[in-house]
Amino acid sequence: MHIGIRRSAVATALALSVAVPAAGVAGAADAPTSRTGAHVDVEYFPEPDGEGARTSVPAHSPHAQPAANARQHTATASEDGEVVPLTETGPTAGRLDVTIIGDGYTAAEQDDFLQDARTKWAEVTEIDPYRSYEGLFNVWAVKAVSQESGVTGDPDEGVTRNTALGSYFWCSATERLICVDLDKTKSYADKAPATDLVIVISNSAKYGGAGYSGLAADYGYDGVSTLSSDNDRSTLIAAHEMAHSIGLLADEYQYAGYGDYPYSEPAQPNVSTLTADRMAAQRTKWAPWLGEADPSGGVVGTFEGADYYEYGVYRPTENSLMRALNTDRFNLPGREAMIAGFYRSADALTPLVDTSVSVSRRTRLSVGLADLDTGLSSLQLRWYVDGREARQARGETSVLPARLGVPADRRTHRVTATVVDTTSAVRSPAVRDLTSNSATWTVTR
Ligand SMILES: [Zn+2]
Repeated sequence: MHIGIRRSAVATALALSVAVPAAGVAGAADAPTSRTGAHVDVEYFPEPDGEGARTSVPAHSPHAQPAANARQHTATASEDGEVVPLTETGPTAGRLDVTIIGDGYTAAEQDDFLQDARTKWAEVTEIDPYRSYEGLFNVWAVKAVSQESGVTGDPDEGVTRNTALGSYFWCSATERLICVDLDKTKSYADKAPATDLVIVISNSAKYGGAGYSGLAADYGYDGVSTLSSDNDRSTLIAAHEMAHSIGLLADEYQYAGYGDYPYSEPAQPNVSTLTADRMAAQRTKWAPWLGEADPSGGVVGTFEGADYYEYGVYRPTENSLMRALNTDRFNLPGREAMIAGFYRSADALTPLVDTSVSVSRRTRLSVGLADLDTGLSSLQLRWYVDGREARQARGETSVLPARLGVPADRRTHRVTATVVDTTSAVRSPAVRDLTSNSATWTVTR
């Protein structure tokens, strides 16, 4: 993540994602509100191809092993907490850092965990826009050595396993809901160089998972997704859950009996109280996409029922990955919001020459561009001298200021490299601005 101004922008964005879904969930008040032992909201998907549901669960797991036990009982406990970079595309300050932790893998099964982590990430990044923007992610695998193989609740409710993170099916009496100990999870996540999002892979072939979001204030990262290792349907759970944290997207499903939307216009980009005519007239929300053919099938419009309520609130398309796991497609407004989220936490351009010291006309200036050369993304790199574009250098990642036209006049000049993503998946000028970042050098001799 970014430091300084951009970091606070990210924090604000993530804080928003906390506040807004919580308001929507408030009506789901069958959840326990007891504070005897912290509870947190989770989302889960009772059926592999169905809509989601939310409930409140304990933040701690009764099945997590004490940290010391792993060392006492495990031959190769030195592996416990070891970090393996799965994908390192750039400096953590300019990347979204995903940390994947395994649970229910013994010391002898850590290679299995690494393989499962690679497979799951590969499956997530087959889904656009993750696919097109994979180059903005670093992925860190953290080994957690469990005393027993497998996880609690697999295959049956009565089965218990002593595991590093205490993940378990049958959480809150719901078979497919995999909960985890959030403090144990954090103790491993903190071993990675940086963590913006966490995925916990539970060693199981049984379909299941969950999503915790809005954790930033307590844990430093916004979301934790749990999913089972050897069930390919569980991959969509992570793809959906990360979208809450990255794209600040709302759920596009509703509950029977919830009735009228009780709130004013929500902050999330993919739900609105406006019907298409009013949205178009106000040029807000997904107005630029109305009437377009959508990757999820059908045409973008305003479909009633979203953000858990049945009436008076609309989603952009009949179906999407934010509504149900029977599709792996984000709709066009969701896709644009995801791209905005990628660039809130990551930069496509990284200066490879220090910008904090002045350079000469003969100093070679270089930048690195994120490797986004397939799919939706389309990076455009331009160079400027004192604000005027040096058109001959368009697309060059390494230049000499003298060649750009910096004059030898003993005055101070500024050379700037700017990248912008010209992807057609973005239509909002504000999001287009987010895709851009620059590096500027002072040329003094
Ligand atoms: Zn959701």
